[in-house]
Amino acid sequence: MTEPRTATPTVVAIDGPAGSGKSSVSKAVARRLGFGYLDTGAAYRALAWHVLGRGADTADAAAVVASVADFDYAISLDPDDHWVRVGAHDVTDAIREPRVSAAVSGVARVPEVRASVNELFRALVAQSGRPGVVVEGRDITTVVVPDAPVRILLTAAPEVRAARRSAEVTTQDAATVAAALHRRDASDAQVVDFLTAAPGVTVVDSTELDFAQTVAAVLDVVRAEEGARHGS
Ligand code: C5P
Repeated sequence: MTEPRTATPTVVAIDGPAGSGKSSVSKAVARRLGFGYLDTGAAYRALAWHVLGRGADTADAAAVVASVADFDYAISLDPDDHWVRVGAHDVTDAIREPRVSAAVSGVARVPEVRASVNELFRALVAQSGRPGVVVEGRDITTVVVPDAPVRILLTAAPEVRAARRSAEVTTQDAATVAAALHRRDASDAQVVDFLTAAPGVTVVDSTELDFAQTVAAVLDVVRAEEGARHGS
């Protein structure tokens, strides 16, 4: 009789600020490793979308906490089939809109929200049914899975991050996108120190790297950490 697979998935934890390439790099790394991919920012964005949909203000912590009660959230961990749902709505694209990006820090600042989504992230990893999951977000290496075998801080110079983000957002000019990104960095930095590597976290600076080089650099860290763990 075959035992059911009960092994805990290996977590590759990737922290980093907006525009560091976190999401696309994490997704590519997950594909290469045959792992799942968990975009944690999507939960904060989807909750912000939900709060805005109720006509509430995300700066109002009490309204945000009240909105958690009927927040019916689902996300795919498949790097080749990424979707995010709130109830019956597919919000994969809607949560990337500038109005949601501008509102999301308000949601992410509420301690009750962070505690509840962090539990959700740990449950999604545990139930993934995959050998491993690449989990990316602001505080993954320090708060969500501080004991992950591979922990990486993916950074890039602020002007490079702003340029990358403005290439993605086609509905606003570069200066507007850069200003919004710096505003969100400043607001997020009050909650999580995502620019400094915690002890034991490896920094990958993508300022001078293209996409393929960044993916290769992250895979090198994964192999080095796995090699060290298995004594090779
Ligand atoms: O990564 P992304 O830009 O989609 O994240 C959206 C927002 O969600 C961030 O600006 C931050 O406020 C919040 N966030 C967070 N902790 C995470 C992931 C995202 O606070 N682990």
